[in-house]
Amino acid sequence: MAETERTIQAIAVSPGVAIGRILRVDRSGRDVEIRRIAEAEVPDELARLKVAIDLTRRQLTRLRDDVRDKLRSADAEIFDAHLLLLEDKMLLGDVEKRISRDLLCAKSALHGSADHFAKVFEGMADEYLRERAVDLRDVVVRIADNLTPEKAVQANNTGDRRIIIANTLTPSETVRLDKKRVLGFAVVTGSATSHTAILARSMQIPAIVGIPAELLETLGATDRIIVDGYSGKLIINPDDRTEEAYQTKIRSTGKLIEELAGERDLLPVTRDGFEVELAVNLESAEQYEDACKAGAHGVGLFRTEFLFMDRLHIPDEEEQFQIYKKLLIAAGDAPVTIRTMDVGGDKFNDTIYQSVENNPFLGLRGIRLALYERRDLFDIQIRALLRAGVYGNLRVMLPMVSSIREILYSKRIIAELQQKLEAEGKEHVKRLTLGIMVETPAAAMMADNIADLVDFFSIGTNDLVQYTMAIDRGNERVAYLYQPSHPAILRLIRNVVEAARARNIYVCVCGQMASEAIFAPLLLGLGVAELSLAPSALAAVRRVIRSISLHEAETAAEKALRCSHSGETIDIFHELLTRRAPEIAGFLD
Ligand code: PEP
Ligand code: MG
Repeated sequence: MAETERTIQAIAVSPGVAIGRILRVDRSGRDVEIRRIAEAEVPDELARLKVAIDLTRRQLTRLRDDVRDKLRSADAEIFDAHLLLLEDKMLLGDVEKRISRDLLCAKSALHGSADHFAKVFEGMADEYLRERAVDLRDVVVRIADNLTPEKAVQANNTGDRRIIIANTLTPSETVRLDKKRVLGFAVVTGSATSHTAILARSMQIPAIVGIPAELLETLGATDRIIVDGYSGKLIINPDDRTEEAYQTKIRSTGKLIEELAGERDLLPVTRDGFEVELAVNLESAEQYEDACKAGAHGVGLFRTEFLFMDRLHIPDEEEQFQIYKKLLIAAGDAPVTIRTMDVGGDKFNDTIYQSVENNPFLGLRGIRLALYERRDLFDIQIRALLRAGVYGNLRVMLPMVSSIREILYSKRIIAELQQKLEAEGKEHVKRLTLGIMVETPAAAMMADNIADLVDFFSIGTNDLVQYTMAIDRGNERVAYLYQPSHPAILRLIRNVVEAARARNIYVCVCGQMASEAIFAPLLLGLGVAELSLAPSALAAVRRVIRSISLHEAETAAEKALRCSHSGETIDIFHELLTRRAPEIAGFLD
């Protein structure tokens, strides 16, 4: 008998509808299937194993030191024993052999070796040695945990594309998802502005977050689901009528998307003749070609940390130089705004920096990490940018700035690197266009002082909302407080715009707020003339801009600045959108 249909309301984070069967991605390695790999995959699999072992070593060392500080040193010895296992040549040699000779994936190989050696221990007469079997299994599960789940996606050999159900997907796992195998995802943790959600949007994978954790236990591979990335609904075992209704929705949305795509060459000009700059946010340089097809004018934010995250080695100066140069040449005269690496928060590459912080979003992130922990990487990146800058219209911006000192220090480093490049006779940009992300309340409040030091501001509303509202942007439990139209945010944006105007520098908004059709008129009305969007949002935002006048946007924004709740502002702009672009407003209902 068919299961009855059930609907669960979660949080929509990436538009689109996915209908299909489930692929449960379990990072704990408990559902280990024996998976064979192709010979060509062996080096990759060995590298992945090495990363997981290095990470495990760091975790165990930290655990041991913590236990030693807080408990007794005798307790810490357990972890010393675990650390020794990580150096055990016989064990690791056996795992590697299973990968390279037997062509098993790292997880299968690990469990195979663990079973083999644990049995040897378990057969021993000495009780102490028998207990080593427990240690062995413990360490192996830990290493397996540190293998990333995207391989589970690749392990799906069923031939059909599936919808991932998981507790969490990290940004570095998301960026590696293979769209040929993944229809969408529904996860427990996260929010609309978590980097996982940002990537899902830019990869155009329908996604929802905030599903109940119990579903991970109860849903199975035979269940069919619908992930509605517009409304946030998860429908389990939909009946024929529901599925048909969704197929109709997919068709009508597709029609509108096609119609909007036909407007790619139309200028983003308001009815009263005000032209808005519409640039795009990129997570990889390769996305630019598609963004251009969608009518983008330049790049407003290139999140370069993703250059470091989806690979095992860190790109050196030459490799980065080539990437930036190619992008700048492709963009011609259009500005290309490249943000220096914003590692930290929820974006980690364990090779660069492994967070040991309780609150990574409030820790060593962005410019802080670059200046005080990984100066070597910052210098390499700045050199690559300075050299590439001669090939186009480069703007460089610094993430997570919260003090003037960080800007002055960065400028000093840039000047020193320019001198070095000069001495080496290498062609480079002599006058770098430098700006900052305004994404901390401190930077927004200090905008007038900062405006004297930089060429532009780019408002990062994802973080500005996070830090102003004191909510972790990745925490689904406080996602209801993620309110870009909160009066506090509007006042901060206004403050930044006024400071920029007074010093005659330009200001852009590149946070998710700029990609939301309802907020485009609000930002225009607040005085922002440049928006940088997820490429998938370009068409709808362009249609909205062309449907309204700057004058009405300004009047509505003035009204919004006097509101005391974000809901009132939403009402004002929802009314404007419904009146001027009802087809786009329909998406929001
Ligand atoms: C932001 O904070 O708004 C932003 C654009 O940067 P990121 O989302 O990468 O933190
Ligand atoms: Mg940010």
